[in-house]
Amino acid sequence: MNPATAAPPTARSDTRTQTSVTCPFCSLLCDDLEVTNRGGSLGVSAGDCARARAGFEREYTVQPPQIGGRSVSLEEAVAAAVRLLRGARHPLYGGLGTDVAGMRGLLALADKTGGIVDHMLGDSMYRNILAMQDRGWILTTMTEVRNRADVVVFANLDAVSDHPRFFERNIWNADSMFGLPTKSRQVVYLGEGLNTRPGISPDGRKPLHLKNEPERLGELIGALRALLAGQSLQAEAVAGVRVSALMKLLGIMKGAKYGVIIWSPPRLPFASADLIVEAICDLVKELNAQTRFSGFALGGNEGILTAGAVCAWQSGYQLRTDFGAGFPEFDPTRNATARLLENDDVDLLMWTATFLAGHTPPATRAPTILLAPPLPSVDSRCAVYIPVGTPGVDHRGQMCRVDNVVSLPLHQVRESALPSVAGVCDLLLQSL
Ligand code: SF4
Repeated sequence: MNPATAAPPTARSDTRTQTSVTCPFCSLLCDDLEVTNRGGSLGVSAGDCARARAGFEREYTVQPPQIGGRSVSLEEAVAAAVRLLRGARHPLYGGLGTDVAGMRGLLALADKTGGIVDHMLGDSMYRNILAMQDRGWILTTMTEVRNRADVVVFANLDAVSDHPRFFERNIWNADSMFGLPTKSRQVVYLGEGLNTRPGISPDGRKPLHLKNEPERLGELIGALRALLAGQSLQAEAVAGVRVSALMKLLGIMKGAKYGVIIWSPPRLPFASADLIVEAICDLVKELNAQTRFSGFALGGNEGILTAGAVCAWQSGYQLRTDFGAGFPEFDPTRNATARLLENDDVDLLMWTATFLAGHTPPATRAPTILLAPPLPSVDSRCAVYIPVGTPGVDHRGQMCRVDNVVSLPLHQVRESALPSVAGVCDLLLQSL
């Protein structure tokens, strides 16, 4: 993880190229990008990654803050936001799409104003956290997947839709430690509507694909667990997959030297999907009686892992913590954004989204303060809008990677007049 390096200016004095740049636009945090800055317009070389290009090459315009749709100075916008924060009895700090420093600032505000913190992807995050709290799990890291996994099962996801370079970086990587021939990996997909082309090995071997109905993944995992326990099934098919195909898959999983099953919380948008995550984690534990197998949760976009980590470091609790009583109170059901807004349980929404998603805050009767990058149009319901920079583009920062074992430095790749979220939080805290 080399620091980004700036090459000497090329023929045009306003053109610079940086190498080993870390990308903040999905939770893989690839740190091998090359970014060329031509007078503030960025061009990125990032393998086959439209997501990185959408983030880095987003049009950069200097835009003034707004109060009720009217352009104002930063000082006026901060003063208006302070008035709203002072008047609020129970604000919600939502979105939380930012870096470590930005999240520290938002937590300090929540602590000072008696607010609640929740991320825009909080519902999907809790599919994992509830499973982990209830049952525990055996998870592995991205480095272990890259260097050790000989069987990789994707449960209801193709990985590349949300993390475009996952196969390039972790499955068909040319080099690996411990002598693993990566192109001989067995890739398995479970589910329909997936882009399975990246699962074809460099030597043309097709992946195994079992097309279960996505919302019935839990039944399929249950059937695998029953077969693993030596039970017979009184059915010819489960969730649309023939039992003979399940037996074949089980044979592959039991034959793995280091198997990994990957799921993505946002790709399980079903009621009680934490029970599906629990079933996957139980299957992993049971497979470990016979071989080595691990789970891997491939979510974490829009800074949710960073927000969760900072909240845990500083308060001792995960997101969905309420500071209204003067101390942190954790309640993942009561403190969910959708429930709080629907029931008018908060009287101010401060919404932060600096990456690719969530630039339009959710509908609410409460006044809204929006911290987001320059936008073509701002939701007219926002009482105050303060344009901010994106970490890793407009300013330096740090974020937590998808496997939660490292945080990576982000680099500034252009001069920017936009303040960071942390900078705006500092200004607000000074005036509160
Ligand atoms: S896969 Fe993710 S981190 Fe890597 S370049 Fe693409 S968007 Fe950026």
